[in-house]
Amino acid sequence: MRFSEQVVIVTGASRGIGKEIARAFANEGARVACVATTQPGAQKTADEIGQGAKGYACDVSNSASVDALIESVSQDLGTPAVLVNNAGITKDTLILRMKDEDWDRVMNVNLKGAFNMIRAVAKPMMKARYGRIVNVSSVVGLHGAAGQANYAASKAGVIGLTLATAKELGSRNITCNALAPGFIETDMTEDLPAEFREYVAKNAPAGRLGKPEDIAPAILFLASREAAYITGQTLTVDGGLFL
Ligand code: NAP
Repeated sequence: MRFSEQVVIVTGASRGIGKEIARAFANEGARVACVATTQPGAQKTADEIGQGAKGYACDVSNSASVDALIESVSQDLGTPAVLVNNAGITKDTLILRMKDEDWDRVMNVNLKGAFNMIRAVAKPMMKARYGRIVNVSSVVGLHGAAGQANYAASKAGVIGLTLATAKELGSRNITCNALAPGFIETDMTEDLPAEFREYVAKNAPAGRLGKPEDIAPAILFLASREAAYITGQTLTVDGGLFL
């Protein structure tokens, strides 16, 4: 029960990687705030994982929505000890075809969303003199990918945000790290062509795509008390694909 009595906020918790992260924290005793764009989507995960978890609707790209979220979570569950910025979207297309709105929406959800959340939890965490922030980046933020200029830029930006946050909040016993998953089986990757799946299976030493269950343990480690001396790092969890 590594997270017993701790309040943990997980964004993008209605499905995929975020749902599994929320479940893993609840299994370790945390009171989890499950965040998604709709209340029913968030609450479904909360009901499934139990342990006093609660669902919240919030658009992380909207700072007013985020501020209201943090106020509600603090009132309902208590001061957040852990924030996992996992909410993310893709709007893939080649640069020449990418519309302003495709660029803006991906940057606003993936990068500004993480910033909005960090800014909102910084004060209560500083007051509590404790905090663990984990931002979900991507191997695409480290290596790029054709057709994903907006997504790659947003996920590289998340790494810069992680470094700045680690430096700014470190003296208050708040760590901030990033995790860069490889290709994980979720709604986000369901349209990947069969040839690409074969490429991953052939070239990753792990011999397969990842599952949300491969990501959650690494997030929990970075969010644990034991990881107190690790900050500003990006941990790649990709089955060795980019070795
Ligand atoms: P997913 O299955 O598509 O789920 C995305 C989650 O984000 C959903 O819970 C969604 O909520 C939420 N979300 C989207 N826009 C939001 C917003 N504006 N405000 C709040 N929540 C929002 O994605 P996933 O594959 O689990 O990915 C989770 C994270 O891992 C993302 O940051 C993604 O970029 C990153 N990642 C994924 C992979 C992969 O291979 N799957 C690889 C590297 C990194 P709703 O259900 O309400 O829409």
